[in-house]
Amino acid sequence: MLKAILVSYNAHKYYEYQQLLKGFPLELRPLDPSFKGLLSETGDTFEANATEKVNAINPPLNTVLIAEDSGLMIEALNGAPGIYSSRFSGLDSDHANNLKVLDLMKNETNRKARFVAVIAFKDTDHQIHLFRGECLGYIHTELAGNDGFGYDPLFIPQGESMTLSELGMDYKNTHSHRHHALLKLKNYLKVHV
Ligand code: IMP
Repeated sequence: MLKAILVSYNAHKYYEYQQLLKGFPLELRPLDPSFKGLLSETGDTFEANATEKVNAINPPLNTVLIAEDSGLMIEALNGAPGIYSSRFSGLDSDHANNLKVLDLMKNETNRKARFVAVIAFKDTDHQIHLFRGECLGYIHTELAGNDGFGYDPLFIPQGESMTLSELGMDYKNTHSHRHHALLKLKNYLKVHV
């Protein structure tokens, strides 16, 4: 079976990848803690940052690397927080990030937003392939629900009336930006590996 490392220290992301890859012939492992400190995001696009992460470590033999850069883009905020989603409040706290969004959006009638995930896949020949997934929706007027992470308690997917946190993991795993990006990677692997 193909061995892969998820180049991320985000435990929520790792958990979602494990769920999303259930039954798919790919053995996913987390990143060794000794690599901590090597990951940086200096690019100005999701694609550049995902590529930077996947280039940060040398994979063991016969192992592929998967990295993801993702975030929330809000139309009324000109695409912010975007690539700065995890560090939006400067406090390294999902809750503080959510409060900052709520504050910036408090008088805004245009609530349109999207989640974006870009996966960088580095194959055993060290070639990089990019896969982008999006999930369209709206910013709620308050925090609602307990599932998921990040901006999930604020994000109402298009066609729904509850947030991703309220809709739960089964819904998220079949509708999220991460699901859509990973579906593209899975289809690529079915043909090429
Ligand atoms: P990254 O680790 O630099 O890719 O940052 C991703 C950040 O985007 C997270 O810390 C969250 O703030 C946000 N984000 C990405 N995906 C999700 C998601 O599935 N739910 C909620 N927030 C997300």
